[in-house]
Amino acid sequence: MLTALFREKVFSTIHYTREELKNLRSKRPIFLCPHCSSELNLRIGNQNVPHFAHHSQFQCAIGKQHESPRHLLSKQLLYERLREHYTEVSVEYYVKELQQIADIYVKTESKKIAIEIQCSSIPIPDILSRTGGYHSQNITPFWMLTQPVTVKQKGLLHLPSFQQAFIRYSPHIHHFLLHFSPEDRSFTLFTHLIPVSVSAFISATPVKIPIEQFTLPLSIPHSTVNHPYLLKNWNQYRMKWIYNKLHYNKAKSDLFLREVYREGDTFLYLPLFVGMPVFPHGLHFKNHAIEWQYYIWKDCLKKDRFISEEKVVKVIKRRMDRGYLEFRALPFVGGDQLLKEIVKSYLALLKDMQVVRRMDGGQYQLLEAWNCPDNFPGFEQHQHDFFPKWKHILKKV
Ligand SMILES: [Zn+2]
Repeated sequence: MLTALFREKVFSTIHYTREELKNLRSKRPIFLCPHCSSELNLRIGNQNVPHFAHHSQFQCAIGKQHESPRHLLSKQLLYERLREHYTEVSVEYYVKELQQIADIYVKTESKKIAIEIQCSSIPIPDILSRTGGYHSQNITPFWMLTQPVTVKQKGLLHLPSFQQAFIRYSPHIHHFLLHFSPEDRSFTLFTHLIPVSVSAFISATPVKIPIEQFTLPLSIPHSTVNHPYLLKNWNQYRMKWIYNKLHYNKAKSDLFLREVYREGDTFLYLPLFVGMPVFPHGLHFKNHAIEWQYYIWKDCLKKDRFISEEKVVKVIKRRMDRGYLEFRALPFVGGDQLLKEIVKSYLALLKDMQVVRRMDGGQYQLLEAWNCPDNFPGFEQHQHDFFPKWKHILKKV
């Protein structure tokens, strides 16, 4: 904690230097917890941000929450930055109506903003309920991820589902993740995220935003709108996913593989138009693009030469209800029309690749019947025929 009650007033360590605090501490002042009124220790080490800690944490809901040095440092840095812009900025602000504490609270003429700094994982339903609580009080929450993000190799992020929950969407930079590193005093913006597996995402070149440039709402430096999609690697990731599935899954227990085999298709040689990256909203599927696109074929396109968007949406909905497909838990991106948008984008891709034709009245007609090669030479031929169209399409998206 950075705040305590001192002589019946709110006292915050961030307004003082280490020396001033040490001086004050030598006079044996009494600091009290604003929430449980028990006495607090003022800790002034060389490494961490000076802060308060309970003698004993028991019986204090706030004291029980472990605060890492990164959390304390993040609070201090963000507070200092926001103070340069706004007059009403508080740290550890208690929202009475919700009985919860915002790490940082900013009040402007028109808005109330609560910043929640997240260094450790919490259940996603908690994020949702806290967000809902803030909205009910007309407070705009701003969730900030400070937990370290794993960048596996250039442009490839590994995001556990908790970190995925911080993904947002903006038309210019598509799905993005904003990460704050207090040690570097800077933000990193990963934009144009494209999933290549349940937890791996490719991103455009990350953009660093020094804390001195941080604003609310976030303004994105202009020079940064360069998005080499790295899609030249898409097929490589697609094949990797297929091989991994063959390698690690038991065909008998894997719902998806069972469906493919039962249908008599060869999983290894599924046509390349099954498993296309679909922008921008295909990211919402937790399942790989191969899975949900295959179901569209199996349940719909293989059966009818003429199909409608509505029919495809219905088919996917049924698969979702039966547990074959699932959306990611992304509390900050959503919309009622997501599935419709995804289906529309996929059908548009199929149209561009001349697999289907759009007819008057909005229906689609299948031009190229389903043909799943069952041997390697057959698949090679398909690749050979398909790649020129594919490359051309991927360049556009
Ligand atoms: Zn307390």
